Amino acid sequence: KSFESLGICQELVEACHNLGWQNPSKIQAEAIPHALDGKDLIGLAQTGSGKTGAFTLPILEALLKAPQSFFACVLSPTRELAIQISEQFEALGSSIGVKCAVVVGGVDMMQQAIALAKRPHIVVGTPGRLVDHLSNTKGFSLRTLKYLVLDEADRLLNMDFEKAINEILNAIPRERRTYLFSATMTKKVHKLQRACLRNPVKIEA
Ligand code: AMP
Repeated sequence: KSFESLGICQELVEACHNLGWQNPSKIQAEAIPHALDGKDLIGLAQTGSGKTGAFTLPILEALLKAPQSFFACVLSPTRELAIQISEQFEALGSSIGVKCAVVVGGVDMMQQAIALAKRPHIVVGTPGRLVDHLSNTKGFSLRTLKYLVLDEADRLLNMDFEKAINEILNAIPRERRTYLFSATMTKKVHKLQRACLRNPVKIEA
């Protein structure tokens, strides 16, 4: 399969080729058509499967069609993963001018508040710090959000982010698409899935 055949536009196909991605990985080939069809997704996938591309590409495709700030938010269990995700959004989205902010713990709140004040399209962060900004950073809100991604959901829950995730769910619209990725399907992940997703399509890497 090719990226074109999945329904990805030419600009993004070229961005994939520029990263050296010739063809979609298995999880990308299975997830992207459902995502472009407007479905919620559960992806059972490990790191290395190309799972990040399975959500960055459909989000960028949707953003191109209806550009707005605070379009998508990705929750990550760790700083390192959040940075990798934002780098992928920026690498794939550079030709279309995508702005991304990273909001993680251990870094100055004010610097991040300045980045949020620039009204990025995408916010990638760890749940605790994102909640700190929702309560303390003037003018920052996720009320216009169209896409929520819970990446490495099993790790998010192991790190006791449940309360923060619930606060984020209360601060974003119910009308949105949600993608949940996890290496394992634990009881807690299943519970989170039922709370956040609507008629999801399940795919495996
Ligand atoms: P991930 O599983 O999302 O962490 O991705 C693992 C690695 O695979 C990253 O370095 C990606 O840049 C790379 N990658 C993702 N999708 C593809 C693809 N379709 N073809 C080749 N490499 C890819």
